[in-house]
Amino acid sequence: MRKSKSDDAPKFSELVTLSKQNTALIVVDVQNDFVDSCGSLYVQDAESVVPNINRMISDARSEGRLVVYTQDWHPEVTPHFAKDGGIWPVHCVGDTWGAEFYRELAVAPDADFVRKGTGGEDGYSGFSVRDPQTGNSSDTAMERILRARGVERVDVVGIATDYCVKETALDARKRGFSTVVYCNCMKSVDLEPGDSDLAIDAMIEAGVEVRDA
Ligand SMILES: [Zn+2]
Repeated sequence: MRKSKSDDAPKFSELVTLSKQNTALIVVDVQNDFVDSCGSLYVQDAESVVPNINRMISDARSEGRLVVYTQDWHPEVTPHFAKDGGIWPVHCVGDTWGAEFYRELAVAPDADFVRKGTGGEDGYSGFSVRDPQTGNSSDTAMERILRARGVERVDVVGIATDYCVKETALDARKRGFSTVVYCNCMKSVDLEPGDSDLAIDAMIEAGVEVRDA
């Protein structure tokens, strides 16, 4: 007897499970210096999106999906900082309070963690860092971690929309991952007014899906 086409096709529920399993959540830089109002590079209202981010983390974990947290993690002296020739106030120096995760962030102990900027590089993207002097770029462990788990799609949330979230999402697209960012799970620095809109436009242009969680 010939099987009908529908016998061979995966059921819708199986497809949903499959697509969810292939999706990782990347939580970008939810650290004291960016999210706590006492932080040295506090992003206005950043703490207001943390409950939404926690909901995403909880959903991902209950579905058995990979969660990767990134942390800006700088040495005390780096050309990334204004005092050493860069543009930023000192922030997220490794092993200081500013670099720690924000106290209300749900940090899953069995998750993966990617630290960026540890060797004095600029580290906006969770996938790669750039030597500010030579301009050379090198990969973090992010892509290896995702590929090892068969990830094909990434949800990107965190701080800040116009820097590390944007660069992480653009880098994910460049490396062939379907990529989604969530407006209610990120906040922007807005050094110049309108930077947030420009960042969203750049992400859409690159094929990133922008929506609410
Ligand atoms: Zn930094």
